[in-house]
Amino acid sequence: MPKDPLKLAHALRLKCPYCGESPLREDGSWVEFAEGCHRCGYRYHREDGYFSGAPWMITYPVVAVICLVFIVGILSMDSPPPTYLVVGISGLIGVGFAILTMPWAKALWLYLDHRFHPLEENDRWPVK
Ligand SMILES: [Zn+2]
Repeated sequence: MPKDPLKLAHALRLKCPYCGESPLREDGSWVEFAEGCHRCGYRYHREDGYFSGAPWMITYPVVAVICLVFIVGILSMDSPPPTYLVVGISGLIGVGFAILTMPWAKALWLYLDHRFHPLEENDRWPVK
């Protein structure tokens, strides 16, 4: 195994960050990740609730910034639309962005966690 096989590009393509071959997601699911890579044995789930850090540390801060930029941009117009409309549209943008980008947030979370806390050799997913 190479010294640093972990690859961000693989994770952002939603593939195993080590081998870049197996998909991170379960077949047919938008946000559910597989337990691990069946090709190289890389374990995606380390513990229950493992991916709960992805929305809190990645998605929600990005959504907050996007919504804030949208609201400031709209309210700085000469004749802004009513506040309820700005808040409603901002909410839809935020929720839509969070749903659409959740797989990449989880992949980035997985990559960052394993970057700082690499797997031990005895902490492998059984290869089929
Ligand atoms: Zn793999």
